[in-house]
Amino acid sequence: YTHYQVLVIGGGTAGIMLSAKLHREQKHLRIAIIEPSQSHWYQPAWTLVGAGTFDYVDTRREEASVIPEGVDWIQDKAVDILPDEHMVRTETSGEYTYDYLVVAPGAKYDLEAIEGLAEAMQQPNVCSNYIDPRKTWNVLLNFKGGNAVFTQPTTPIKCGGAPQKIMYLADDYFRKTGVRDKSEVIFATPGSTVFGVKEFLATLQGVIERKDIIVRTFYAPIKIDGERSEIHYKRTQPDAPPFTPDEKLHEREEGPDTVVIPYGMLHLAPPHVAPDVIRNNPKLAVTEEGGNKGWLDVDIHTLQHKRYPNIYGLGDIAALPTAKTGAAVRKQAPVVAAHLLAQINQEKQPELQYGGYSSCPFITGYGKMVLAEFKYDNLRDSDPLISKFVDTTKEQWSMWLLKKYGLPWMYWNLMLKGIM
Ligand code: FAD
Repeated sequence: YTHYQVLVIGGGTAGIMLSAKLHREQKHLRIAIIEPSQSHWYQPAWTLVGAGTFDYVDTRREEASVIPEGVDWIQDKAVDILPDEHMVRTETSGEYTYDYLVVAPGAKYDLEAIEGLAEAMQQPNVCSNYIDPRKTWNVLLNFKGGNAVFTQPTTPIKCGGAPQKIMYLADDYFRKTGVRDKSEVIFATPGSTVFGVKEFLATLQGVIERKDIIVRTFYAPIKIDGERSEIHYKRTQPDAPPFTPDEKLHEREEGPDTVVIPYGMLHLAPPHVAPDVIRNNPKLAVTEEGGNKGWLDVDIHTLQHKRYPNIYGLGDIAALPTAKTGAAVRKQAPVVAAHLLAQINQEKQPELQYGGYSSCPFITGYGKMVLAEFKYDNLRDSDPLISKFVDTTKEQWSMWLLKKYGLPWMYWNLMLKGIM
């Protein structure tokens, strides 16, 4: 078998950032990344692509160009992990053994988890920035009025704010073109509120009021009828307030706890699951029932696997009680690198821990953004540098510039190089 000191599964945000950091710290380490895709994507800009204000081609780079120099790229897919044998099986190139394994294959979409979703995605008025942001922009361009429904599933999703950001931008765009007078903008979520951190919730509620957006909470999407342009929701809480249909939305009750909303356009985040290589491996995945079932079972502060100390995981795959974002990966990578290197060099484990930092740039319109930063337990957090200059709990033009120009530049030139 080919043997590596550190084998990394996934060459996305997490896999590249971590490998670059490790290589920067210790040049002689034998590291390989298993990644099947020819492309590396900067997904955070897809929100802007969906709103017609960022070029899709600029969100892609050749995978080869982001693999750190001196690190091997195994262009293949990991299909099985044998943690007791320290071995990974791939689809086509055979088996690899390792001293340490870093698991970072991100999240996968499960279109079968909502009845009719896969078929509905073929319709010209249904879109998802997660799947094809260019189509979203087309859907916005062609929207003639009626209900514009924005929704999300009951599973964890990448960047929890993304389903709202595109709605705020769409509302702005509909106002510019005049179609907003002939439409209702609806946000339907299985959650109890639009955002969990109170400092930012107040600002977002102000945005929702100003934009006259209708919010439906405890609405879990269970079925989409693409032919009739209708979405069915199960109301998730038995103690949710009684259903009062809104005449102007043509919303109706159908059976116990089920509500149907017709739409002129629909944007949704698809249900997310862990890739099969983890989900189907009970030695590595969380096995208890609950929201984290199937995701990688790591310690939430060190990101070390709970049962296999020579395995770490970071990025979207990790079962962590915080939002799955690239911003979180930026804070996770130094923690994994430090612990891994200490272990390799047989030094004392470092103090450095991950506190759940994640951030969500809530774009609230063209030229406006609130940078929501938080950590475990829904507590507000803040990047010391940014918060010195701006109040990030308020909508800011400077934060929009950061999102559109600053962050993409930082991503390609610093983060992926393991510099920050
Ligand atoms: P990814 O970057 O998705 O990479 C996973 C990689 O693993 C992929 O390259 C994949 O090909 C590979 N892989 C999968 N299975 C296997 C396998 N079996 N074997 C080998 N390789 C495999 N984050 C922010 O910080 N801010 C934002 O504003 C933001 N907005 C977003 C908006 C949208 C629409 C989306 C979709 C995401 C957004 N994110 C945002 C989230 C961010 O993109 C992810 O959190 C981040 O990319 C996670 O990194 P990752 O490496 O875990 O996963």
